Amino acid sequence: MAVEEKVLTDREKELAKTFEATKDMLRKSDHQVGMVMDLNKCIGCQLCSMACKTLWTSFEGREYMWWNKVNTMPGKGSPKDWEKMGGGYKVLFEGKVMEPVQGKHPTRKEFGDLWKFNWNEVVNSKAGDVHLQAKNQEDDSVPDWSMNWDEDQGAGTYPNSFYFYLPRICNHCSYPACVDACPRNAIYKRETDGAVVIDQDRCKGYRFCLEACPYKVIYFNFVTDKSMKCIFCYPRLEQNVANACARQCTARVRWVGFVDKPESIIYKLVKVWKVALPLHSEFGTNPNVFYIPPLAPSRLDDSGKIDPTKPRIPRDYLRYLFGPEVDKSLEVMQTELDKVRKGGKSELMDILIAREWKKMFDIFDKDPAIMERKPAKAGIYTRPGIKE
Ligand code: SF4
Ligand code: SF4
Repeated sequence: MAVEEKVLTDREKELAKTFEATKDMLRKSDHQVGMVMDLNKCIGCQLCSMACKTLWTSFEGREYMWWNKVNTMPGKGSPKDWEKMGGGYKVLFEGKVMEPVQGKHPTRKEFGDLWKFNWNEVVNSKAGDVHLQAKNQEDDSVPDWSMNWDEDQGAGTYPNSFYFYLPRICNHCSYPACVDACPRNAIYKRETDGAVVIDQDRCKGYRFCLEACPYKVIYFNFVTDKSMKCIFCYPRLEQNVANACARQCTARVRWVGFVDKPESIIYKLVKVWKVALPLHSEFGTNPNVFYIPPLAPSRLDDSGKIDPTKPRIPRDYLRYLFGPEVDKSLEVMQTELDKVRKGGKSELMDILIAREWKKMFDIFDKDPAIMERKPAKAGIYTRPGIKE
């Protein structure tokens, strides 16, 4: 069926041009920082989540926020069922992104309850008392969802059940749907490093960004009436200190660096070895957070014997998360792993083992102890053409 094209008036054409020019400016950056996370190493300890919470989201109105979270996959995650909420763009051809996809605004409840155990009950309860009953901090009700509610549930049946952890932050996308959606032009990429931030002075709380982001990583602060999200720890980057989630990671899961600098390990993993892949690239926002997909043990057949032809994590599920490129990525990793197992050497395996953890952070390898403590201020850029 032919689609009838809307004929724009001269005034509408002029406005569309201005809109695009402004958004182009907000999406522009001289360089692009990124992160690679190795899902083969994540143990789901949530230290990254706690590091982020302690630093950025333990203040008024942010208590329910998890700018960094680690979900169990397969699972519904947080907000609950976020993968089905829409947003982003329909990728039309050759990676060129075009039509925006209507997205849903996640509700406060879908992000999950803010609950805690009552440790006092544990210590003082008598036999037969209900204890360790989780309760919502806000109204004492019993919670039914939270950031990590379906932890370790996974999928499949014993002995072939499986799960793995998926740490998530804002992807600091190259084509951020949140930037396009904001009628106040409050969201922009920082010129120096491409981190996507929300200018808290410009934000008026319209929340179109929550609908537009297909990863549903933007939260609304009901106290300040502003949208908030992961800022890629830019005040730390400015002092060459890596993100708190990366520094605190027990398992050396996260590399930080420039996606566009060939000397960076991130560049090597994403563009040379091509083993690190974006999550749900079909969302069309060109993420700058990448994942090394999980290699899985083989399935056991009905007689309990290992069937080397069938991986425990169904390949279709990994293709759903990381696209068809996941086949090649897993093949390259398996080949390099086999090489080492036979006594050979592999540059890729050396990178992934990360014996020298400081090398994981590119130029951001300074000790946080040397940081000059000063209040973070994101909205410092006045860009030409963006008026009050
Ligand atoms: S992940 Fe969402 S909030 Fe982050 S830059 Fe991309 S579209 Fe914006
Ligand atoms: S700190 Fe590291 S290992 Fe622990 S959950 Fe976070 S990414 Fe995974």
